[in-house]
Amino acid sequence: ERPVPSDIAISRAHEPKPITLLAEEIGLLQNEFSPYGSKKAKVNLNVLKRLANQQNGKYVVVAGITPTPLGEGKSTTTLGLIQALTGHKRTNSIGTLRQPSQGPTFGVKGGAAGGGYAQVCDKDIYENSVFYRSKPISSSQVIPMEEFNLHLTGDIHAVTAANNLMAAQIDARYFHEETQSDKALFDRLVPTVKGVRKFSKIQLRRLAKLGIDKTDPNSLSPEEQRRFARLDIDPKNIPFTRVENVRYFKIGRFYLAVVDINDRYLRKITIGQSSTEKGLTRESSFKISVGSEVMAILALATDVEDMKRRLGNMVVAFSKTGEPLTADDFGMTGAMSILMKDAIEPTLMQSLEGTPVLVHAGPFANIAHGCSSVLADAIALKLVGPKGVVVTEAGFGSDIGMEKFFDIKCRTSGLKPDAVVLVATIRALKMHGGGPPVTPGSPLKKEYVEENVELIRNGLPNLIKHISNGVKFGVPVVVAINAHSTDTPAELELVKEAAIANGATSAVVCTHWADGGQGALDLADAVINVTGQPSDFHFLYELDLSIEDKINKIAREMYGAGEVELADKVKQKIEEYNKLGYNQLPLCMAKTSNSLTGDPNVKNAPTGFKLNITDIFVSVGAGFVVPMVGEIMMMPGLPTRPAIYDMDWNSETDEIEGLF
Ligand code: ADP
Repeated sequence: ERPVPSDIAISRAHEPKPITLLAEEIGLLQNEFSPYGSKKAKVNLNVLKRLANQQNGKYVVVAGITPTPLGEGKSTTTLGLIQALTGHKRTNSIGTLRQPSQGPTFGVKGGAAGGGYAQVCDKDIYENSVFYRSKPISSSQVIPMEEFNLHLTGDIHAVTAANNLMAAQIDARYFHEETQSDKALFDRLVPTVKGVRKFSKIQLRRLAKLGIDKTDPNSLSPEEQRRFARLDIDPKNIPFTRVENVRYFKIGRFYLAVVDINDRYLRKITIGQSSTEKGLTRESSFKISVGSEVMAILALATDVEDMKRRLGNMVVAFSKTGEPLTADDFGMTGAMSILMKDAIEPTLMQSLEGTPVLVHAGPFANIAHGCSSVLADAIALKLVGPKGVVVTEAGFGSDIGMEKFFDIKCRTSGLKPDAVVLVATIRALKMHGGGPPVTPGSPLKKEYVEENVELIRNGLPNLIKHISNGVKFGVPVVVAINAHSTDTPAELELVKEAAIANGATSAVVCTHWADGGQGALDLADAVINVTGQPSDFHFLYELDLSIEDKINKIAREMYGAGEVELADKVKQKIEEYNKLGYNQLPLCMAKTSNSLTGDPNVKNAPTGFKLNITDIFVSVGAGFVVPMVGEIMMMPGLPTRPAIYDMDWNSETDEIEGLF
């Protein structure tokens, strides 16, 4: 076995090519990107206009079997595949990835940039451009890994700022409404400036919504002034709080202040305790930024106007009479969009072999849809050209990330996927087959490092279920067996044969973790081959199915459930949603990712089980209904020994230590 340095050591041993060179190589014009330092650049959305008539490349999504603590290697495979395609197969390719959240980075997981072995880069890499001309070196990561895992270009901070400005405005408005007369409120909302008194653009929208057909503020009757000025916010029905009460949670509990840190003490807080707030305290809570609706909107927006529309449509509070109040009612659409101005541009980075990667958005895959942005994919598909391939990743197993990728992301973008690469490992299949539990950090038990064909055979139903999930969407499935050095030929052969016999178009063993692009040549061939044939992509469900039927379809067909039970409050809320028209939205199921069932401890692929829907809410702006299968954590906490303990900035070497 070759000694393998840590991912960060590999990343650091490699000097990335200047980002301006990479931008040029992939065909961006000077005015279509803005470098942030020398290793990353923002890509301007105007490139989509210039290339509007360019035919798209092929669109491939990397999905996984049900995750285990052993790690499957989806990001690593995404990077290995684009390196093989671009560096070895003369096929333009771009990888599109989510930006990692700082929550997990400093908590338990460590960063997420793929991983693997690298030879020290030789300096003439600069003369060897990607896009047909690359001279490959090994390994499969996004570099520089520190930047990828830390602030990057600040997009998550922008999401946090936009979200929290919204939060501040809700509470401030509530305070002002509670403490002022109708007239004072109106006069302050529509002040006389230099002798002129007029409504702003956003205020005119609110007037129109109220059916008040006047544009001169002085012409409003006192009753009209009152209706305009008072959102009449119900402090107990701001979906900010997480108080469990059906009456108060008609729509959701999705709108909270956010921070991109695992901070458990913010799960439930009381705000407004200073005497300046005159006793108007209320319970509220934070959630992690990447779980916010603003993040989901960034990931789903198809252009600037679409992002603004979705931000404005977010239902953030309710009036005392139960009317939904949107971000636009609070005048927030423009201000939030300003904060998101740079964040809407994807960030160009590179893999260890100099292959382009677009990093953009990072919605959680449990309460949100878990896919990188629509815009990054759209740009990448134009840049690679009709013969090129864009490889993106969907979080967790096919039941979670891939289903949402197809039914939410592709439905929103209109982009048609051509193939699924389903990543599996021998060790994960052994675990699904009944292998012993693993403790992170301790040496692996012998079952995982010695040949054990029986355990794999027992675990194959999990792989087979995920293959059939891909096939259900009419898209060919290529199984990528991400090989570890201890896997034996008999084990690998067994999985390959089973995959082919159960609906996969092809199944290949890859060693990109150890060998970089060179280790994913067969995978690249398989992908080129299947994407060369027409795919018959279709959604799992049509939008006009009822919410209940959509839940049933996903539960039975994706998870293997036999029965679905809806809690009474879920049924009540669904009735409300039907009246409000939310039944026409796609679903974003919030289920554990660690099992096909609702119980994270159940491995493999059981069938006929009962799935309990315990709650439901809707993200009106992002545009999906979220049925909850049990409680999903919206604000993770730090463990007793977080990754923080290993981290340092070594000022002598100027290196960041302990990010992995
Ligand atoms: P996922 O995207 O499925 O969460 P990653 O690609 O991030 O998984 O990989 C998880 C971890 O496993 C990384 O640290 C990576 O270096 C490691 N890893 C991936 N593939 C292999 C492999 N074939 N052999 C050893 N380690 C691997």
